[in-house]
Amino acid sequence: MSDDASHSAKSRKRLTKQIIIGMIAGALTGFLINQYGNLRGEDAVYGFLMAAGPDGLFEILGQGFISLLQVLVVPLVFVSLVCGTAALDDIRRLGKIGLKTVGLYLMTTAIAISLALSAALLVRPGAGLDRTTDASYEAAEAPSLVEVIVNIFPRNVIDAMASGNMLQIILFSVLLGIALSFSGEAGKRLLKLFEDANAVIMKLVMLIMLIAPYGVFALLARTFADLGLGGILPLAKYFFLVLGVLILHAMVTYPALLTVFAQLNPRRFLKKMQQVQVFAFSTASSNATIPVTLQAVEHRLGVKNSVASFTVPLGATINMDGTAIMQGVATAFIAQAYGIPLGVSDYMVVILTATLASIGTAGVPGVGMIMLSMVLLQVGLPVEGIALIIGIDRLLDMVRTAVNVTGDATVTAIVAKGEGALDESVFDSEEEA
Ligand code: ASP
Repeated sequence: MSDDASHSAKSRKRLTKQIIIGMIAGALTGFLINQYGNLRGEDAVYGFLMAAGPDGLFEILGQGFISLLQVLVVPLVFVSLVCGTAALDDIRRLGKIGLKTVGLYLMTTAIAISLALSAALLVRPGAGLDRTTDASYEAAEAPSLVEVIVNIFPRNVIDAMASGNMLQIILFSVLLGIALSFSGEAGKRLLKLFEDANAVIMKLVMLIMLIAPYGVFALLARTFADLGLGGILPLAKYFFLVLGVLILHAMVTYPALLTVFAQLNPRRFLKKMQQVQVFAFSTASSNATIPVTLQAVEHRLGVKNSVASFTVPLGATINMDGTAIMQGVATAFIAQAYGIPLGVSDYMVVILTATLASIGTAGVPGVGMIMLSMVLLQVGLPVEGIALIIGIDRLLDMVRTAVNVTGDATVTAIVAKGEGALDESVFDSEEEA
């Protein structure tokens, strides 16, 4: 490794450590603030703490940090994907990469939801539960397959970008990249501009990541300060089942896929993914994490931009294995709690609706619950059932988002390996975290 490379690897490692410390310190601070009022019963002190910390300073720092990450998403995906597409030596490879990626994304989601349903049928987390609750939940309707497909085509690119419609942005960027590579000198000149812009935006990602330890601290302190963990006890079975399946999927399914399909060392992969997972956990948004995921898979796993620029934003939008796991367990849980038996065909509908819903919805905090309402509606389960679990969903949202982005990176590495677009010397480099 050159001096420069080893220096940047070292500083990345230091940053990862700082971010993890920020995460733990933030969670502890939030937890203490959360407990303080309850322990002492001094609401005024608690109120003051909340106003000064979680509702004031932490809110500003945390939201500011997420906004800074989010503001990069659309320009980065656009510029990076145009470069990535134009850099493909043979445009026909795009079709192959696309098919493989979508196929693997669907496969990992199917495994995830099957694991979740099997575990929930075995453990029966909802059996014998007292389901009296006065909270209600507004159901969202599942989009039809036709709607999902029609929605991929952009009508107005500015509108697509302004509303952050990722699939439309992806389609437009790919088309523009193809046009660039067929446009001779004009295409080359414009491509140069895009390449420069890509390098600058990537630098911006690195700069914003420097404040990540503080941003992550504030986000977690904010979240943990009013995390309603009191509600966990009656739902402990549900909570720990979702958590267990999430961990199983991340620690067993992904490593197995990496080993079988790409002969890559899963331990190294997971270590290099730590930073991305912490970002996903803290922001609970695969979308806001895109810049960090892209940076990690390209610079730490060694995936070429031509693959990563396509697979990462696509994954953040359509591949949500962690969310599928929550939906699987939650559906079975609600069915059990209400004593409504579901048949095999109902479970097939659950799998199909969950997958379709995830294609049409962006990876942002809490969206999994909206998707769950679509699933429940499809199989005729009471949507109010969501009220039972929503109180403890935030923490699970954070964990499942970390699983979602790990899934995106797993598929990215497998596709890249198959396409000869993975620099294994980078992947195998010793840099630990
Ligand atoms: N927050 C998740 C994500 O961004 C989606 C969800 O499960 O709510 O990936």
